[in-house]
Amino acid sequence: MKYKTYHVVTFGCQMNERDSETLAGFMEELGYSYEPDKIVAQVVILNTCSVRENADKKFFGVLGQLKHSHEENREKLVIVCGCMMQQQHIIDTLKQKYPWVDLVFGTHNIGDFPKLFKNVSEMHERIIDVWENSDTIAEGLPAKRMYDFKAYVNIMQGCNNFCAYCIVPYTRGRERSRKPAEILKEINCLAQSGCKEITLLGQNVNSYKGEEGGIENFAQLLREIDKIDGIERIRFMTSHPKDLSDELIDCFKDLKHLCHCFHLPVQSGSNAVLKAMNRHYDREQYLGRVAKLKEVCPDIAITTDIIVGFPGETEEDFKDTLDLVKQVRYDSAFTFLYSIREGTPAASWTNQIPEEIKHERFNRLIEVIHEIQEEEMKQFQDKIIPVLIEGTSKTDKSMLTGRTESLKTVDLPGDTSLVGKIVPVKIVKAQTFSLYGELVND
Ligand code: SF4
Repeated sequence: MKYKTYHVVTFGCQMNERDSETLAGFMEELGYSYEPDKIVAQVVILNTCSVRENADKKFFGVLGQLKHSHEENREKLVIVCGCMMQQQHIIDTLKQKYPWVDLVFGTHNIGDFPKLFKNVSEMHERIIDVWENSDTIAEGLPAKRMYDFKAYVNIMQGCNNFCAYCIVPYTRGRERSRKPAEILKEINCLAQSGCKEITLLGQNVNSYKGEEGGIENFAQLLREIDKIDGIERIRFMTSHPKDLSDELIDCFKDLKHLCHCFHLPVQSGSNAVLKAMNRHYDREQYLGRVAKLKEVCPDIAITTDIIVGFPGETEEDFKDTLDLVKQVRYDSAFTFLYSIREGTPAASWTNQIPEEIKHERFNRLIEVIHEIQEEEMKQFQDKIIPVLIEGTSKTDKSMLTGRTESLKTVDLPGDTSLVGKIVPVKIVKAQTFSLYGELVND
């Protein structure tokens, strides 16, 4: 074991990745350095997600791998936090079966990490400190950013929508927004340190609430961020269709740095299923918002989330989803098999869909989505587009990889000195999931 080293394992969404940057920032401030091997690291932090069944399984798998090194080294600390820790049945399981977990805290008291870490390091006794809820967001926390050219910026936490399948309102609490001045201060700092792209994060950024008489809502916040020198690309996620205002849509025609891509989860194309999901909109309203977006910003890339096999979903309902996908022609979609989340309303419903039907529908949906995606990608052939170079390609280390404004992956030959720069690239090959290009020299 290497003393004074730490390792963070992040499960789940971008908000968890952002929280893990904060935890890494705390560890660096405490004089620890990053160790890529969790078995060798003295302190291991597992930042958990509870959105889907898989996430739970992965977490307990990784936790099991730490048992031996923890038993061998009395100085090793295993720390678990994040959304799963907001669920009592998980805490009970940890108490009964995982004695090698030293510190447990939740999503609301990440700001208390230094105090909790000091106590558990000195007392050598397990600490479990999970808050049920909180009405504030801790400010001024450190961050060890994963990238210097792009960054995630939390603007709000929590969700008040209570979709029938979702555990987030129970793990992240009620919606609360950061003060506009704090957000602008953070982004100005990032811009001054050379950051080019920011992604604003929240479970439902459209319902961001600023300050009366000042920056009051999300659209106004975007307009202020668009004025910050150095920030060339602004992105945000996730949006709820019920809060998609005309004022927000107009930002896509007025703002200089707002990327023309919009992640707008639909979940289902059936009104009966949307009602059962408690989504607060129907397919007509959703299609109306999409039409308005495309009218205001014709080249906008729209992506979405879709759940297949929600309890009670009939073949007719599923066909409505396929039909809606064909109407919107999504650039891409995150597709999920419905999985029961203990503690959510739909978990106890008796009209669950058999797994084989879920899989059969899932495969049909993927086919339709990929067909459209392939056609949409073809439009990039021979085009010259700006690409933010993010590093070397995962599949071919001799190639660079980057992202277009609409989040398409582009691989191209080039020198790593281009990492962090937005450069013109000519697309020479378009495939379903990625593009190949050549650098265009001036
Ligand atoms: S809007 Fe619905 S799906 Fe999204 S986080 Fe809130 S409850 Fe979950």
